[in-house]
Amino acid sequence: MILKINPIKPELDKIRMAANAIREGKLAVFPTETVYGLGANALDDEACKRIFLTKGRPQDNPLIVHVSSIEMAEKLAEIPKEYLQKIRQAWPSPITFIVKKKNILPNSVTAGLETVALRMPAHPIALELIKEAGLPIAAPSANLSGKPSPTEASSVIEDFGDRIDIIIDGGPTFFGLESTVIDLETFTIARPGPFTIGEITKIFGKIPKIFKQTKEIAKPMSPGMKYRHYAPSKPLFLFSGDNESFVNIANNLGKSFCFIASNEICGRIYNEKAVKIRLGSSKNLYEIAKNLFSSLRAIDKFEPNFAICESFEEKGIGLAIMNRLHKACGGAIFADENRLKKFITAIK
Ligand code: AMP
Ligand code: MG
Repeated sequence: MILKINPIKPELDKIRMAANAIREGKLAVFPTETVYGLGANALDDEACKRIFLTKGRPQDNPLIVHVSSIEMAEKLAEIPKEYLQKIRQAWPSPITFIVKKKNILPNSVTAGLETVALRMPAHPIALELIKEAGLPIAAPSANLSGKPSPTEASSVIEDFGDRIDIIIDGGPTFFGLESTVIDLETFTIARPGPFTIGEITKIFGKIPKIFKQTKEIAKPMSPGMKYRHYAPSKPLFLFSGDNESFVNIANNLGKSFCFIASNEICGRIYNEKAVKIRLGSSKNLYEIAKNLFSSLRAIDKFEPNFAICESFEEKGIGLAIMNRLHKACGGAIFADENRLKKFITAIK
């Protein structure tokens, strides 16, 4: 069932329908300020197992548990005393904290780890849903495992059809990228997101470390890092060289291709073989972030059999944008015009 709900002033009767479904052990999709989540009662082992089955998610990749208050978080985990006030200050927002879990949480949620990832979302629908359910809600992004996360309900329907009990359609999400994940024990960012390093530093009074992912990590800091993610099914090439070269490549390609770039760069492309997918103004990286996943999904809908995409500065939310693009292109990053051309020529 699809429930259309007002994202600013959620209708309580509809929220109750979804909350009841969660309490009965069913799955419900809901919008958060980051991406859409596929939610279940975090205290119900069977319901959480169904999340993994529905998504095709590897069982060793734990779920984020969403709460509506610090008190709810404290029932689930040991929140270090020194950070309690800071977390209060930071939430609700797109930041997830990894902390030591309590036994009340079933094993499926944390994939057998001793820690749990907790977040209080800053979206009226998500918050009301958790409050009405009176339960913490475990929710990964509501996409088939490996696909770009959904930032609108239609993408959820694209992936799952009518396989989910309830889908709340609350319009497009605000940020369009998944939450920042930080391990509080080591104060290290496991996944960059919309809550920037600058914001973390301001609230916590210290600069977080960033876990740099190398190609082969024997022991990833966050299990999700092991997997290819956010990927369209067609090849995607990321160009990290200068704008002039990028425009030059695109205007001279002799076969059709998807061209994903800022409005400013798209405006300079006159090659008729280019299917332009505009990410928004390069002056506003939040707009680029918001449009990123729907643009990656669009590649599979258009005719051309590959795509090339612009790179962005790894500053502020740009760090999260580039993190997702790196994963989406599976390491196909080119700084050199001629090397990229060589790869493109090889595509059938
Ligand atoms: P998703 O909800 O699909 O956006 O992914 C949640 C991310 O949080 C994944 O990268 C998980 O591996 C990560 N995560 C969840 N719980 C933990 C945990 N206890 N320790 C480390 N990473 C976690
Ligand atoms: Mg995900």
